[in-house]
Amino acid sequence: MGKEILPLDNRFSDYLRDESRNVGRAESISFPESEADVRHILATLRTLKTPTTVQGSRTGICGGAVPDGGHILNLSRMKDIVGMAESRDGCFSIRVQPGISLAALTRQLYHPVVDTAAWDDPSRRALHAFSLAEKKFWPPDPTEDSASIGGIAANNAGGITAHYYGPARRYISAIRFVDSKGDGYQVERGRFFFSQGKCPHPNGKILFVESPPTGAAPVLDLIDVYLGSEGMLGVITELTLKLLASPKEHWAIVFFFTAESEAANFIEQIRTRPNEPAEAHIVAVEFLDHDTLFCIDQQKEVNNRLAVLPDVPSVTAAAVYLELHGDRAVQVEDLASQLLEMSAAYGCDQDTAWAFSGEQEMKKARLFRHAAPESVNGRIDSVRRTDPRICKLGTDMRMAGCSFADVLGMYRLDLDRAGLQAAIFGHAGDLHLHVNILPKNHDEFLAGQKIIAAWAKKVDAVGGSVVTEHGVGKVKKCLFRSLPFPRRLEILRHLKEQLDPEGLFNPGNMFELNR
Ligand SMILES: Cc1cc2nc3c(=O)[nH]c(=O)nc-3n(C[C@H](O)[C@H](O)[C@H](O)COP(=O)(O)OP(=O)(O)OC[C@H]3O[C@@H](n4cnc5c(N)ncnc54)[C@H](O)[C@@H]3O)c2cc1C
Repeated sequence: MGKEILPLDNRFSDYLRDESRNVGRAESISFPESEADVRHILATLRTLKTPTTVQGSRTGICGGAVPDGGHILNLSRMKDIVGMAESRDGCFSIRVQPGISLAALTRQLYHPVVDTAAWDDPSRRALHAFSLAEKKFWPPDPTEDSASIGGIAANNAGGITAHYYGPARRYISAIRFVDSKGDGYQVERGRFFFSQGKCPHPNGKILFVESPPTGAAPVLDLIDVYLGSEGMLGVITELTLKLLASPKEHWAIVFFFTAESEAANFIEQIRTRPNEPAEAHIVAVEFLDHDTLFCIDQQKEVNNRLAVLPDVPSVTAAAVYLELHGDRAVQVEDLASQLLEMSAAYGCDQDTAWAFSGEQEMKKARLFRHAAPESVNGRIDSVRRTDPRICKLGTDMRMAGCSFADVLGMYRLDLDRAGLQAAIFGHAGDLHLHVNILPKNHDEFLAGQKIIAAWAKKVDAVGGSVVTEHGVGKVKKCLFRSLPFPRRLEILRHLKEQLDPEGLFNPGNMFELNR
């Protein structure tokens, strides 16, 4: 069953799209259940030179999983936990297939109910030790918990707690992947490195990049090339994930401000205070502007799940969402009190702030934060019904070398000049905002595309990143037409020419091959 290549008929039309709202085309689809299935399918397709688009959960917002003809390799049935290990110093890692969702992984880490029939003995022993040990977690969290772990790895996703924990690749120590010929390999962190532009590959060949990586991180680990390569080089079929001790205290606080500028100044003070690993620390610093809060409010009327959320105080211009982690309640409480006091200096009425703690309450906090992108996407859907040419139009740029107020000011000024409305939210602690243009018609959609291209130039000019965690996919490719091609993409293109010279993986994504 898992090896079958099925014709793409009406039953599978959902698989032609992802959360970017773009719709593609394909001739066939498969749902492998094991690496052996993936190898068989890719070897078969190669004989026919059929291009293949790799799909995880299709929550991506850049059209990376939207097929452009050929075959769809959908990994949603590869969702097993296949092993576990405990190192001598008591650290745990878990081996998973790529299609397991973040939600399923989190459930398993908190309350393991695993079928271990096919596991080896060391894995079974590690699971026993794991069940007796204190709780563990896997830090990457792109908030959309239906995202697959393979998709998160392929995008090197960040999410809200990346402010403290960093991107996904930090927590992936090995991967297995299948190349375009249908051969499977393993890459462990620390095993294969680029040195002077050359790197041994597990297939026995030597890879080349034209000019070796330079600067602060001259050493490039091969695994870090695959993580973030958006499926352009191979299909990730297994991942070894590093687990951390779960903090005992998880808190979230939402602060409401009557002036956006005050919210921005509050964020700047938080961003610039030391946030070293300590007994209590801030792991997420998120901003939600007025239009985002308005979209959430509208969504509450039609989405019953959001009914549990309190009402946003009237006369709110912006909100700041913080998450705190720590091991002792008293220390997290102390930090929370300091932050509440600090917020008062920026006009936040402490009595209106929301505070959440404990597993159940934190779900509510996350529901609120997740409602931001979901509600905005819902708004795009309703405009799309009037004009299907309109798709999601959001940014994923991280600014550098300025204050949060400067970044927000730049977006506001340009939006006002262009007469466009946008919902602005996201990872304020890293100057990494998602500006979602809310076009009312196709002309505004086109104007939105222009303004995003102009921002890309500004961000690139100061050394920020134009595409940070959502990937390039098909949607963001156009941003690089008028910018110097980023070094990371240049390396990937060069490696794709060596590893997938026929361009069979993910056609239409990221870049064109120099053929
Ligand atoms: C409401 C909402 C909020 C979101 N918030 C965030 C956020 O805060 N931060 C963030 O980073 N992202 C966010 N995302 C985007 C998305 O969830 C992430 O990009 C996620 O990593 C995509 O995972 P997926 O399984 O859905 O991948 P897909 O959409 O299926 O695929 C994405 C790309 O990865 C490739 N790919 C998938 N699986 C594999 C594999 N096993 N091997 C090789 N290539 C593969 C695909 O070919 C494609 O190019 C959000 C999405 C939504 C809908």
